Amino acid sequence: MSTQNGIREAAAILAEATNVVASCGAGISAESGIATFRDTGGVWEKLNPAEVGTTWGLIDSLNTAPGRLIPFFIDLLDAFEQAEPNPAHLALGELERIGILSTVITQNIDNLHQEAGNTNVIEVHGNGFRLSCMACGGTQARERKTFIRETREKINAMRDFSMAAIMTLMPACRHCRSIMRPDVVMFGEAVKDIPRAFDAVRKSDVLLAIGTSGVVYPAAYLPFDARDAGARVIVVNPNENAFAAVSDVYIPMKAGEAMPAIVEEVKEIRRQG
Ligand code: NAD
Ligand code: ZN
Repeated sequence: MSTQNGIREAAAILAEATNVVASCGAGISAESGIATFRDTGGVWEKLNPAEVGTTWGLIDSLNTAPGRLIPFFIDLLDAFEQAEPNPAHLALGELERIGILSTVITQNIDNLHQEAGNTNVIEVHGNGFRLSCMACGGTQARERKTFIRETREKINAMRDFSMAAIMTLMPACRHCRSIMRPDVVMFGEAVKDIPRAFDAVRKSDVLLAIGTSGVVYPAAYLPFDARDAGARVIVVNPNENAFAAVSDVYIPMKAGEAMPAIVEEVKEIRRQG
């Protein structure tokens, strides 16, 4: 199928739908300048997931070789600070505004779906700009760019990268004064809100899987569950992914190019119909 036909076919399915759920992975934010982890040039080519992807690995690495990790964190801060919602995020915002999209389920922690106007976002891996207290579990949401600016100022003021200095990067909990951490899911930790995600998918008439490789579980099950529950599945990903067997339409394009074209076509179909 040509990409143009894929866009038309996806739009025809979406124009008739009333309860679309989007399941998004790191790929949807790639065009916002936040690199995916697995792709060529991604983080996992430079760092070992065991070193930075688990809480204990990260604490150990910060203890033994903080100087090596700080440039990695500064690069991440830069990318998250400069990022803005791209045309794919904005297209999902528009799809909600016109009454077609009900829910975004995202593996991303970058807050860009909310900034693009989506109001029902299930963040299965948490949010990098919400902090949670390691003692009482209380949470505190911070504005993305303000939090990054404050963190960068603290890093710039550090004389050394000792563990004690690094611990001061996070504010203390307002309730119990204990240490807070970003409310994100590390390897080995429980994903968040999965029952709500599966419930949304089972009630949907179309699942849009955008920029997700389909190898990070349990989010990778979502298109399969959608299909079992009778939903149509539309996949947008420029690269091969795990959803070939269940996709009704596969569009091998970048999300930022495919999604606005699909939404424009949906609006055109609705205008004519
Ligand atoms: P992943 O499994 O979601 O893989 C990324 C997918 O995006 C790949 O299939 C790739 O082909 C696709 N892709 C790349 N560029 C694209 C584009 N322009 N348009 C559409 N698709 C594109 O994710 P991962 O990179 O292996 O990351 C693992 C986990 O790490 C994620 O689930 C997430 O929790 C976290 N992460 C978050 C962010 C973020 O918040 N933006 C970024 C990187 C990683
Ligand atoms: Zn607390």
